[in-house]
Amino acid sequence: MSTPLLTHAPPVDRKTEETHHVDRPTWQLVVMWLFLVGPVVGLVVAIALASAFGVGPSWLDVTLAVVLYAFTGHGITVGFHRLFTHGAFRANRPLRAGLAIAGSMAVEGPVIHWVADHRRHHAHSDDVGDPHSPWRFGTSAGAVGKGLVWAHMGWFLDDEKTNPERFAPDLLADRDIARISRLFPLWVAISLALPAVLGGLLTGTWTGALTAYLWAGVVRILVLHHSTFAINSICHVMGKRPFVSRDQAGNVAALAVLSMGESWHNLHHADPTCARHGVDRWQLDSSARVIRLFELAGWATKVRWPDPARLDRRRVTVGSRD
Ligand SMILES: [Zn+2]
Ligand SMILES: [Zn+2]
Repeated sequence: MSTPLLTHAPPVDRKTEETHHVDRPTWQLVVMWLFLVGPVVGLVVAIALASAFGVGPSWLDVTLAVVLYAFTGHGITVGFHRLFTHGAFRANRPLRAGLAIAGSMAVEGPVIHWVADHRRHHAHSDDVGDPHSPWRFGTSAGAVGKGLVWAHMGWFLDDEKTNPERFAPDLLADRDIARISRLFPLWVAISLALPAVLGGLLTGTWTGALTAYLWAGVVRILVLHHSTFAINSICHVMGKRPFVSRDQAGNVAALAVLSMGESWHNLHHADPTCARHGVDRWQLDSSARVIRLFELAGWATKVRWPDPARLDRRRVTVGSRD
């Protein structure tokens, strides 16, 4: 009896694959480009309105922008990143849901996809398989320039999409989070409509609605987008590296306020589950402050605060960096 010939490749378990190839339909490509370019167009319109017609941002618009920036931004840094990706603390059910919704309103994608991409980033940081390493194309000046554009925004259009079944099975199994993730378009609509409605109601004018929409809606999203994107691009190319990490992550002080403490990225890669990223003196980290407030309120528990002995073991000493 002869052995049958193997006519098919062994079946691939799609659940364990790191990425899936996607052929995006045209409508999805349009949405992606809108996501990347739309906020820039909004900024240009807002500036044109201000300079040509004198319809600039009011104090109400600025206040709404700052409040929504902090609300949605900490949804990303405290919720999507430190809680859902890294488990730096435990949160009660309402806080988990609230953080997932607040982060979704930052318009950076559904929570489960955000977390899956970010876990893949840590699994391969600055190596093959990292979805957004600026070192992807090489180390020459030209290659790093191209890599910075890729790490900042280009990677969103990659055909290889992170597989959430591999990288975020815990969140797929969480019914609250899975539902919030599926409802992503709703949170985007609320994030854009809320400033317009508040601006219109509080001023009683259509102009008030329009300028609040532009400055506290579109421009606020634009600034938050690019301060998040800068963590992937700038913080993986420059900055101080006082801690040992196996990648090129650096601490960039200039971005600390806008990124709400995320730009202490060298520490983060050296100790990813630590709830505070700005662990040294004068390193502003508003996200850590927010987590502390949640802990005081009793909503957050098991917070992984910095452990001095653990940090000392990770500090760069002479000869520890190759
Ligand atoms: Zn990183
Ligand atoms: Zn991280």
